[in-house]
Amino acid sequence: MAYIIKVDKDACIGCGACEAVTTDEKGKSLFVMKNGKAKPLKSKITDKELKAYKEGEESCPVEAITIKKA
Ligand code: SF4
Repeated sequence: MAYIIKVDKDACIGCGACEAVTTDEKGKSLFVMKNGKAKPLKSKITDKELKAYKEGEESCPVEAITIKKA
């Protein structure tokens, strides 16, 4: 199963929580901040990566991150 990760740029308040709480197996954040808005490192992920990206989704205070089945 594949999933699509999206950040709603209009909703994102640039708090950096998603960047702070998520890491891949190499310790790299799964979201990067660009011009004050978060951007997912990957727009399409696998089952294996879902749990880590979910932590980012759950950390967002304004629910700007969505994860949907591809
Ligand atoms: S946690 Fe939400 S509001 Fe904060 S930077 Fe990430 S996407 Fe934006």
